[in-house]
Amino acid sequence: MAIVSKFGGTSAKDGITLENVINNIILANPERKVIVFSAPGKASQDDIKVTDLLIRIGETNWNSREYPSDLIRQFRERFLTIADYLGLERSFLSYHFNLLDAFVKTEMDNRDAYLDSIKPFGEMITAKLVAEFLRKQGKKTGVYLPEEIGMITDGNFGKSKLLESSYQKITDKLKPVLERTDEIIIVPGFYGVDSRGRYTTFSRGGSDLTGAILANTVDAKLYENWTDTDGIRRADPRIIDNPDTIEKMTYREAREFAYSGAEVLHPDTLIPLIAKDIPLNVRNTFNLSNKGTYITTSKIPNGHVVEGVSHKEGFTVLYVEKTGMEDEIGYLNRLTNVLLNHGLSISQMTTSIDSVSVAMPANQINGKAEAVIGDIIKNKLADSEGVNMDYDKSMVCVVGEGMRHHVGVLTKLSGELASHGINIETVYQGPSERSIIFGLDSKDAKIAVKAIYDLYFGNRR
Ligand code: ASP
Repeated sequence: MAIVSKFGGTSAKDGITLENVINNIILANPERKVIVFSAPGKASQDDIKVTDLLIRIGETNWNSREYPSDLIRQFRERFLTIADYLGLERSFLSYHFNLLDAFVKTEMDNRDAYLDSIKPFGEMITAKLVAEFLRKQGKKTGVYLPEEIGMITDGNFGKSKLLESSYQKITDKLKPVLERTDEIIIVPGFYGVDSRGRYTTFSRGGSDLTGAILANTVDAKLYENWTDTDGIRRADPRIIDNPDTIEKMTYREAREFAYSGAEVLHPDTLIPLIAKDIPLNVRNTFNLSNKGTYITTSKIPNGHVVEGVSHKEGFTVLYVEKTGMEDEIGYLNRLTNVLLNHGLSISQMTTSIDSVSVAMPANQINGKAEAVIGDIIKNKLADSEGVNMDYDKSMVCVVGEGMRHHVGVLTKLSGELASHGINIETVYQGPSERSIIFGLDSKDAKIAVKAIYDLYFGNRR
């Protein structure tokens, strides 16, 4: 059975890194048979990710109708430098450069479709470069482009989803290759095609998803996600200095963690893996001795009550009071319909007898707050003076399967926050008891993360 290995932008950022990845990771284990690459990330601090460069190329041409020659030159230079470092002929890149040029110059009437026709070139050329380097070393390898293996999406440009029917198509293409040959299969991440064959990208970071889809379709024994940190950390390293790595976590913990702001994986990554119970190992390309984080369906209890703490900023909380709302059949339905009519999604909701608070992403509600409040009043969903919006709110999420059936976690956590003078405005604990989410003022969020981390994993643990 094969291992599917996906390498993120930092693992492809320049020639020396790619050479290390190929020689010390891909070729170090013959089971690594299906390889997915992202586009090169920043090669230095003041550099730009190749995908961002492509977006800039597309946007510049779209806005000004002027061929962005400087940006194109910068794009070519990135790959030529890598090809030179790896000792590859520059000439084989010409075909892809010309193809990109042709797309840049193509007139289209849909901006998102136009950008999506340009964005895949980073991953595409990286896959070709890697294959070329492997071939030069006498390895049997093939690049399988998403358009050739049946990665058909719903055609939603910039945020496409794979069609359910594509899974079987990809299996039919790739499984025979795996069974018949010892070829290393290389697939560019991040994109597929719509039913008309036009490029469509997943949302940003979508190469993770490409890898997970492939792991599902070839029934991989393991999906490896190679990045530049030692797996998933117990807290954001920008807040906690060198936080511990979580050695093992369950899919459900990982889902809650990713959802609540821990930005290691694309949030949809786990879905194709859960369907086939394929373990995921998040590892560090630059620290091979660290085994990273293993994510599996279940784990042997390790005595940890809490596995990690993350936070997400940028919420606006709607607070509504209405005497007797508890007895009013359909009240919440009517309230959420108002929000739906304004295109707002609900992140969290808590109710008490006569009040409800609804947290929503601030960027969705910007400019609409007055209209929403107006509709709530018009529909008699609030007492007079009973509705307002609170801005600059954050969610701090504490995750751990160990919290289930463990008495006193909430008391311990809220006591700790109180001792730091932090006011908890709302508490959300889902029925799964795998996470507790505190809604609080954004100015307190990082202090709360630090306090909770120290409580469970700091020196005082
Ligand atoms: N290169 C794409 C991005 O920057 C996809 C990925 O890296 O997964 O979002």
